Formats: sequence, structure tokens, C-alpha cells
Amino acid sequence: MDQGQSSALDATSSQLSERRHGANPRCHCSRTGEVFKAWTNKNPGRRFYRCVVHGFISWVDTEEPAGWMKISLLEARDQIRRLENEIKMLLETNNDLNSQMARMVDSTNSVAELTESFAIKAEESKALQLELTKTVERERLLRQFMVILWVGFAALTAVIVTMVKK
Ligand SMILES: [Zn+2]
Repeated sequence: MDQGQSSALDATSSQLSERRHGANPRCHCSRTGEVFKAWTNKNPGRRFYRCVVHGFISWVDTEEPAGWMKISLLEARDQIRRLENEIKMLLETNNDLNSQMARMVDSTNSVAELTESFAIKAEESKALQLELTKTVERERLLRQFMVILWVGFAALTAVIVTMVKK
């Protein structure tokens, strides 16, 4: 039989069964029946004994629900189910938001890491540029030195040539 699928609607069943355990009828398998509430359209809120394996044993409430009370119980059942669905959807939305937030935090962290590595690269490139400038400077000095050497050598040669001619 249909007992509905709502957890909140069944929440009272264990408390009910504890209270009435001693007098509960047994199933044909000799298990003691537990008290549950039916939430079907025909029997909203009507209690029954139930075997955990074989299901329905007998009604606790011998009277069938009827009249305005039955209508009221059905409305309450439907409202609770709607609310439970809304809560479920809100929880799912909340989970989605949480994972989106986690992803955003992740990407913020990687942007920070990237920025840091750019800063390091900029520092390195500055150092490299400085090194390059020094090298160029050294090369320029070396070339000047070579020119001076050549000039000196040429001058010396000229002096020697002049001396030999004399
Ligand atoms: Zn049974």
C-alpha cells in the first residue's frame, strides 16, 4: 500500500510504536507490528500496525478518516510535501552556491599566484637587463681599449720606421 514518501510525515511513527509496543499485534511471521501513519488519499493520518518485512497488519484507528478532518489532513500533508521539496531545492541551491564560491576562491588564488609570478619575472627581467647593460658597457670599454692599443701600436711602428730610416 502507498504510505507516501515524505520523511517528516513518518517521523512520529517510531515514537508511537514505542508507546504502544506491549499491546501491538504480531505479523504472521511473529514480528511485532510497529505503528505507522498512512498518508494516502484514502487514509490521511490514519495509524496502522506494520511488519518491517511484510507491511500492513491491521489498523490502529478503526474509524476511517472522513469529512472536513480528512480534507484538512490531506491539505496539511500536501503543504508539508511542498515545503519539504522547497527545502530540498534550497539546500541544493545552497550547495551549488557553495561550490561556485569555492571555485571563485580557487580562481582568485590562482590570479594572486599568477600576479606574484609575474612580479618575480619582472624582477628577474630587470636583473637580466642590468646584467646586459653591464656586458654591453664592458664590450664598449674593451673596444675602446683595442682602438687605443692599435693607435699606440701604429704610432710605435711609425716611430720605429722613422728611426730606422735615419
Ligand atoms: Zn511479517
